[in-house]
Formats: sequence, structure tokens, C-alpha cells
Amino acid sequence: MSHKYVYLFSEGNKDMRELLGGKGANLAEMTLAGMPVPQGFTVSTEACTKYYDDGKVIVPEIENEIKEYLAKMEEICGKKFGDPKNPLLVSVRSGSRASMPGMMDTILNLGLNDVVVEGLAAFTGNARFAYDSYRRFVQMYSDVVMEMSKSEFEKLIDAMKEKKGVKMDTELDADDLKELVGQFKALYKGKMGSDFPTEPFDQLMGAVKAVFRSWDNPRANVYRRMNDIPYSWGTAVNVQAMVFGNSGDNSGTGVAFTRDPATGEKKLFGEYLINAQGEDVVAGIRTPSQISHLHDQMPAVYDEFAAIATRLENHYKDMQDMEFTIENGKLYMLQTRNGKRTAAAALQIAVDLVDEGMITEEEAVLRVDPKQLDALLHPQFDAKALKAAKPIGKALAASPGAACGKVVFTAEAAKEWHDKGEKVVLVRLETSPEDIEGMAVAQGILTVRGGMTSHAAVVARGMGTCCVSGCGEITINEEEKHFELGGQNFHEGDYISLDGTTGAIYGEAVPTVEAAISGNFDRFMGWADSYRTLKVRTNADNPKDAAQAVKYGAEGIGLCRTEHMFFEGERIKAIREMIVSKTAEGRATALAKILPYQQGDFEEMYRVLEGRPMTIRFLDPPLHEFVPTKEEDIKELADELKITVTELKNVIAGLHEFNPMMGHRGCRLAVTYPEIAAMQTTAVINAALTVNKEHPEYNIIPEIMIPLVGEIKELKFVKDIVTSTANKLIADAGIEMEYHVGTMIEIPRAALTADEIATEADFFSFGTNDLTQMTFGFSRDDAGKFLDSYYENKIYESDPFARLDQHGVGKLVEMATKLGRSARSDLKVGICGEHGGDPSSVEFCHKIGLNYVSCSPFRVPIARLAAAQAALNNK
Ligand code: PEP
Ligand code: MG
Repeated sequence: MSHKYVYLFSEGNKDMRELLGGKGANLAEMTLAGMPVPQGFTVSTEACTKYYDDGKVIVPEIENEIKEYLAKMEEICGKKFGDPKNPLLVSVRSGSRASMPGMMDTILNLGLNDVVVEGLAAFTGNARFAYDSYRRFVQMYSDVVMEMSKSEFEKLIDAMKEKKGVKMDTELDADDLKELVGQFKALYKGKMGSDFPTEPFDQLMGAVKAVFRSWDNPRANVYRRMNDIPYSWGTAVNVQAMVFGNSGDNSGTGVAFTRDPATGEKKLFGEYLINAQGEDVVAGIRTPSQISHLHDQMPAVYDEFAAIATRLENHYKDMQDMEFTIENGKLYMLQTRNGKRTAAAALQIAVDLVDEGMITEEEAVLRVDPKQLDALLHPQFDAKALKAAKPIGKALAASPGAACGKVVFTAEAAKEWHDKGEKVVLVRLETSPEDIEGMAVAQGILTVRGGMTSHAAVVARGMGTCCVSGCGEITINEEEKHFELGGQNFHEGDYISLDGTTGAIYGEAVPTVEAAISGNFDRFMGWADSYRTLKVRTNADNPKDAAQAVKYGAEGIGLCRTEHMFFEGERIKAIREMIVSKTAEGRATALAKILPYQQGDFEEMYRVLEGRPMTIRFLDPPLHEFVPTKEEDIKELADELKITVTELKNVIAGLHEFNPMMGHRGCRLAVTYPEIAAMQTTAVINAALTVNKEHPEYNIIPEIMIPLVGEIKELKFVKDIVTSTANKLIADAGIEMEYHVGTMIEIPRAALTADEIATEADFFSFGTNDLTQMTFGFSRDDAGKFLDSYYENKIYESDPFARLDQHGVGKLVEMATKLGRSARSDLKVGICGEHGGDPSSVEFCHKIGLNYVSCSPFRVPIARLAAAQAALNNK
């Protein structure tokens, strides 16, 4: 038997999402449950991957199967494709395993042509409806399948409205729409050089192909990269009988959630439009009514919908996001899926579902996307500043949080300004998927049109970005880059602030403050911690960051980068003095100045940590970052050193390196200048002795970490300096204190010889930033310039500096861990590269048996949750 690529809705179920995509699987499940679902079939994700494998063609085998299933569908629906007497019209929609809202293309009303439209008009007795459907179809097909620009069609509609002296699309009559269809087709022919396709099956195959193709469009690729969705999954295509929400005032269409997606509150939440098709609600072109209003307008339909919503939620045991259409008073369900929600709502819903007895704590922990926690930890307005600020307008509170930034009007400008270090607020008439990259870098998004389920709202919520939508009071001129609101004019670069929680808009900069975490957070994170086996530490090098991380649940510091403690004021002067000193005495003088700063900092850190461990990484500065470049700094330093400016400049020139990332940094510095390691050891040991004396209960065991080691003798050399210095200090103090000396594994040679290295190391910490840099052989500072081409060409699907390359770098990590433990079975192993806060990398670390991950303070909760999920998913 040949392979099956097409499935009727009645042949699937919810567990087949890999094959049928989320939408297809859920349509099948609703069909199984006897819910009113317009019938149809799903072309599987395997057909999509085959399309790509076959060089972007749909082979005859699959085309024939689609034909066969279309015939079955006609029989089920009692209508026929292309039959003017009783026409079947279909929608064609994408649906991948993971929902990608608004990312892929949809075509409605497919099957119409000049003959069928007349039949539809006669059959329904509604010529206006028939021609409205037809013009929408020609427009969508031209846009989605043939990639013509939407705006040319919009211009024709606007011209027609002007000619007729009307404002709304709904005021155009059947003849106007018929005339528009003619104009649209002429436009199509002019651009495409051929007639608009009239054969419905050709239209269908064109549409299926367009959906497959859309899997590879740039916005889908960006969305996948942001959400770790593999390219190899492909999308399914759902072909579903059309029901018409635009067939009169007894019809309509809407979207609704079983709980409030912004707060998690348990109530039906959503909106609908009378006499409209789905795209109108999602695109946010007309402002819809609240779902509660449907209760008054069509009570029986509302009750039926509410009952289905409850059934669906109970069935999926999660908040549902549903699309429905009412055709002449009859309700149809077009889709259901687990709804996207804000981080606050995600926690509220997870906790409520446990309290309602629907799910277990374990299931609740798996329900929240770790990356989403980011949003909870994001800024709010400073309360005092907010009191003093006066809103100039208000619109829908589409996605919570506070944003303050300079106005930009395009996604491109948002990116450009952001790259220059500016904070921006993106102001748009409405957003569309093309805007995604601009939205991702904006502090906040403000739209003139659109409801709570508009593109801007859904996407911003998913990103955890503040969004205020549907501000109809704004008069905007996107081309000339200005808008007017509350009597004020705003141009590109002017400050505004948005409150995504209340919908308020401020025409000024309102300062923001750190996020406050809700009561559910601790309870939820407590559950997560109970399943987690991997420890979570933080990367912090000052007491403030350390305190922040402890508040977020850090169990210690995994990486204290000591060079970061030298950037300011007097300290940088002292370190510069050390760097440019030509003699050991000169360096000793400089180091004597640095020592008290170091020791004081370490003491403060130990106090903040209250007994939690801290791994202190010895100096690892690319030297060029520290030498003075400004004329006045050079002069000041020359005076200090009592040498001439020219002499100093010569020293600085001598320090120049062609590749500082591979230069005189890390332990190489201590090999050249052992006194630096001795000074740092003194600072660490004395700080620990001091704080242990104050607080014997802390029982601090200092952890000293030697960076950039590639050879055991190199480690041993530096370690000997550490131990001789430390042992003397401890003996002199007359107090017993243990201390550990470990190393970073961040050079491939260290990973390859990890068994040797472990004989000299009490612990390993993988510095996967450098390990990635040196395994790939590209500079961590320069890779950004060319990685985009690698994503575009599908060479890499994600940034290896953000998400651990498990296949290559990960292999080194796993191998080095095994080798290290073969030499020293109790070797403690962690990771402190940026990957320590990335959920998929955390899962990898769990799987290969690391003891801890270490990440920046704001990512600590993310790592805690990711570690818990890793433990639960790999039981
Ligand atoms: C690393 O290389 O992964 C690391 C943590 O060290 P740094 O980023 O300071 O080089
Ligand atoms: Mg490093």
C-alpha cells in the first residue's frame, strides 16, 4: 500500500499532532467528540517535508490522494467543488505541531469563480455576500499564492468607497463588489501575465503549495528561531468546508478563550464581529464586540458556545483558545488549541488548575514555558513617577508590563535604533507578521487598530512585550512619521510610555522599575524546585546582582568574573598601572592598590550570599579592553607612572594583539605575572577568613577558578601559586579553612584532556562561550555579522552562542564530564557560559549529569523551571 499523506478529520485524534499539526489534530478530536465542526481533511506534515525533499514539488501521488479525499469530503458535505448549483467552498490553513500564530498563510472561500459565484448568489439568495466572498478570495489568493502586494487591492477598495461616497466596506453593495472583482482580476492579469485561475482544483493545489512554501518564509523562520521550533517539522495543511460568518446579520465570527489570557481569571473571554469573516477579527481592521455581548445578541448560540468551551477545557485540561463562526444562526467550531497567555496568566492558570483538581502539581510545572517567566521579571513603572504622569490616551491593555522609549514607526527603524542602543516604542496602524523582528526589539508596541486578539496583542503577549492596542483616537501618518493623540503631536524620536496592564498611554518618559513577583510565583517555583535535581547558581560580580539573584532563587554564584570588578574610577587606574608596568616592583605597587578593593568586594559578596558558595574566577581580561585610549587618560597615567606620554604610548602599542580573544588572557596572564594570582588568592582567602570570623555559621569554603586552561601543567603552575599563598595565609590566621581550586573547561584541548586536568582540579565549570567560539572557530564578538546568512541558508537553526550546539560543543562537554569523573569520581561539574540560562541547554546539562548551571540573575527562575522540566521529562 502506498504511504498515506491525507486524513479526513474523522480519521484523526488529538494525539496525532506530529502528523496532522496542532490544528488538524484538534479538529479531528472535536469531530470525534461530536462537536459542530465543518468537515474536511488534513494533508500531513510528512507531505510538507516530502515537498521540500522533492525539490519543492507536490508529486502526483500526493496530488491524486488530495483529489481522492476531496471527493470524500464532497460526499460528507453534500456539496461539490465547482458546482454552481451547490458549491463546496473551502478554507486552506496551515497548522504545524507547535502553534505559530499569524506566522503562516490562510486562504478562505477557495473554489469560487465567475460561474460558481452566481450559483452561490442564487443558492443563498444573497448576491452581496457571494461577491464579497469572491473579492476576498481573489485578494487573498493573489496575496498568499502569487505573492502580490495587498495594498494595491486596498487602493481599489478605497477608490470604490470614494466613488460611492461611503466609509465602510459593508456599505458597498453587490454590484460594487462585482465591479471590484473585475478590477481585481484585471490587476492580477496585469501583474501575473495570465488569467486568474478558474478551475477550483488548480486553485486548491496552488493554495496547498503556498502553505507548504510559507513554512519557509522569513517571518516563520524568525518565529521558529525565537521559539526553538525545528525546521524539519514542516506544516500540515487543513482543507475545511467554509461556513460563512459574512452571510448577513444573523452570522458572525469570533475568537474566545476559556480564561482571561492576560490575568488567567476563569471566565469566557473574547470578541466577535457580526457579518464578518475570521480574518477581520484577527487582522484587527474592525473593532469587535466583547463575547459577553453575544449573550444578549444571540442567547442560544452563546449558551451552546459556552457549553462547548467548558467541555473543551475539561477535555484538554487547559485553557482553550477557540475560533468559531455563526452561519445564519448556527454555531460552528473552526479551531481549538491551548491558548497563548501572559506569564502571570500562565502561573495563575497552572495553580488554579491544580486547585480545581484538574491537573497534578507535576503537570502544572510542565505547563509553563520557562522563557515566559522573563515577562514576570520585567519592568513596571516607578509608582511615584506614574502618579505624576498624566495619560494622554487609553486603549486596550493587550500585553502587560511597562514600556518607555522613543517613537519609531517601522519595524526596520525599531531594529536600527535598537542596534544603536536606543530604547524604542513601535507605533503602528496595526502590526502584521512582517513586523516581528521590530516587535522583538521594542520596549513596547502601540497600535491604532485591533482588539485583544489582534496580531499585535497575541504576538506581544507571547514575547512578554508590553502592548497597547486599538487606540482609535490616534491620527497617524506612518509615511511622514508622526501621530497625534490627546492634542499632542509626536514625531520619530519623541518619548512615549505605555502601560500594558491598564492600557494607558503617556506622552513623556515615565521611568520604569524592576518587576514585582506575584504570590503564585513562589508556590509554583516551590513545586518546580521539588522536582529539580540540577542546582542553579548565578553569574554575578557585584553585591547588588548577587542579592538580586538570591532573591530569584540562586543557590550560589557559579561565576564571579573578577575583571568586571575593575571597570570603575580608581580601580581602572590601578589596573592600568599594573598592565603597563615593566617591572615586577611596578606591578607590585599597582597590585597593592588593587588588593583592598578586591578583598572588600569579596567580603561584601560573601555577606550577601550568607553561606551560599561562590566560584571566583581569576582575572581573564582581554588586555586591550583595559588600556587607556583617551588622550587625557593616557596623560594622567603617564604622570602617575612618571614616564612620558610617548613612552606610555609605545607600551600600549606593544600590548596590541591581532586576536585578543586568543591572546594574552586567562591563566596565561598568571603564568606571565604570577603575582596577579597571588594577589587575587590573598584577597579571596582573607575575605573568606574575615567573613567566616563574623559568621562562623556560613562556613565559607572558597572556590577559586582558573580560566582558559588547555594543559594540565599550566593549571598546575597557577594552582601552585594559589595553594602556597592560601596555605600560608590560613596557617598565619590560625583558623582551619578548606578551599577548592578548580578550572574552567573552555578550550577544546582542555575538554580532550579532561581526565588529566581533573587530577589537578577540584571542580570543572564549562565556559561554553569560549568553548563554542573555539570549537566552531569563529569569534564570539564577530559571528553576529555573518550568522544571519547561516540561518537564512538553514546551515544553523539557532545562534550557537545562545543555544548550546549539543551535537558538537555538547559532545565535548559530555565527553569532558565523563573523562573528568573517570579520574575523580566526586568531581563537581557545572556550566557558566550564557547557555546556563537557556532552557534547551539546561535540559542537556541535566541529561548529561552536570551538578549545576550558572546564569545571569534574571534568568535564574527560568533555569530553575527548565531544570525541573528536564527532570520530569527525563524520569
Ligand atoms: C565562557 O567562556 O563561557 C565564560 C563563562 O567566560 P567569559 O564569558 O568570561 O569568557
Ligand atoms: Mg571564557
